[in-house]
Amino acid sequence: MDLRFEERQEKLRETMRKFVEQEIPREYARELDEKDEFPHHLIRKLVDYDLARINIPREYGGHGGDILDLMIIFEEIAKRFPTLCWSFGNILLYGNEIIGVNGNTEQKEKYLPRLAKGEIKFSFGLTEPDAGSDAASIRTRAVFEDGHYVINGNKMFITGAGVTEYTITFARTAESKYNGITSFIVDTSLEGYSAKQLEKIGHRGSNTCEVTYENVRVTPGDILGGQEGLNKGWWQEMKLLNQERLVLSSCALGIAQAAFDDALVYARAKLGRTQDKGVAQMIQHQLADMASSVEAIRYLIYAAAWKETKGMQPVMETSISKYFSAETAKKVVTQGLDILGADAALMEHDMQRYLRDIMIYSIGGGTSEIQKNIVAKTLNL
Ligand SMILES: Cc1cc2nc3c(=O)[nH]c(=O)nc-3n(C[C@H](O)[C@H](O)[C@H](O)COP(=O)(O)OP(=O)(O)OC[C@H]3O[C@@H](n4cnc5c(N)ncnc54)[C@H](O)[C@@H]3O)c2cc1C
Repeated sequence: MDLRFEERQEKLRETMRKFVEQEIPREYARELDEKDEFPHHLIRKLVDYDLARINIPREYGGHGGDILDLMIIFEEIAKRFPTLCWSFGNILLYGNEIIGVNGNTEQKEKYLPRLAKGEIKFSFGLTEPDAGSDAASIRTRAVFEDGHYVINGNKMFITGAGVTEYTITFARTAESKYNGITSFIVDTSLEGYSAKQLEKIGHRGSNTCEVTYENVRVTPGDILGGQEGLNKGWWQEMKLLNQERLVLSSCALGIAQAAFDDALVYARAKLGRTQDKGVAQMIQHQLADMASSVEAIRYLIYAAAWKETKGMQPVMETSISKYFSAETAKKVVTQGLDILGADAALMEHDMQRYLRDIMIYSIGGGTSEIQKNIVAKTLNL
């Protein structure tokens, strides 16, 4: 048994740590959170570090990286500014991963080189006002007319939909619940597409939007995967779930680690001042508990990721990772708040932002209850 990362992965982590220290000083992260603006500038920097091609297959000019690479990148960024993970996800996940896994050759040749250069970004439009956890009940429709598919409907909570050049849009093309959904690559400059940014408590700056499609006309060539992808959208999405859960788990880990690190610095100073042995032990135990939780998340999620890289299809493990990391990181952050006491209420401490950011991990990418449903199902319950 060998639980070490490979040298290549350690180097990537080192690069990411440098990137975060150089490009995202704490003050800058606070400013971006306050302004609630999409971090275009930081995306540009990530592209300059040659990270946008990390998970593009080598035959399309990429580095051929895997889920472990993505998790290392996301964990390190999330320690400082998790919003950037999601924004970079508009290239790495919703662009590279979706096109790489489900696109046809023509689509890969068209989009992957431009994604690698940061020229384009993608969003992922599945959720609707009345279709969240039960995503297959979407009502957005694409009707074939005069050689085009005409899309009408509304999407909700779509990350980056107001700033991305393309959006993967799930629309109903037949009546069957699971076998009647098609994903289209929609150019967001097309007439009839509009996105309105929603103001939210956490992950501010990730440009979460309500989206409207009013007679948006796309061609059959815009079906993800080409004509063969017609009515296959649901199954294309299923192929991406393990990766999505793992990447979100690594963001939750990054936030938990940051909360622990800040609490540790604060506690050391406080322990130096307090004479009260009871208070001192309470703080020590709280930190020991937090350290245990962070360690547990780390081993759990990277073990699941390792299984994914070995093609073991770890559905139960990725669901456990997503559920456990979101809920445990939330607990770690609330313990961090306890350690800071009244100071936790001050905006000058990042702990309040960690709380605002971590809350969303129990919801986005499949709620904790849905993850538990999946685990129960794999246990034949
Ligand atoms: C910040 C943010 C960004 C997002 N980005 C995107 C994006 O880019 N693209 C996209 O398509 N979507 C995105 N989403 C949507 C996200 O995937 C959905 O919010 C999520 O799937 C839950 O759907 P819902 O909010 O409608 O909740 P609901 O499905 O209405 O659930 C409400 C509650 O009921 C529970 N519940 C529902 N069904 C069950 C069940 N069968 N068993 C047990 N409990 C259940 C849930 O766990 C939850 O607690 C984003 C959401 C957020 C908050």
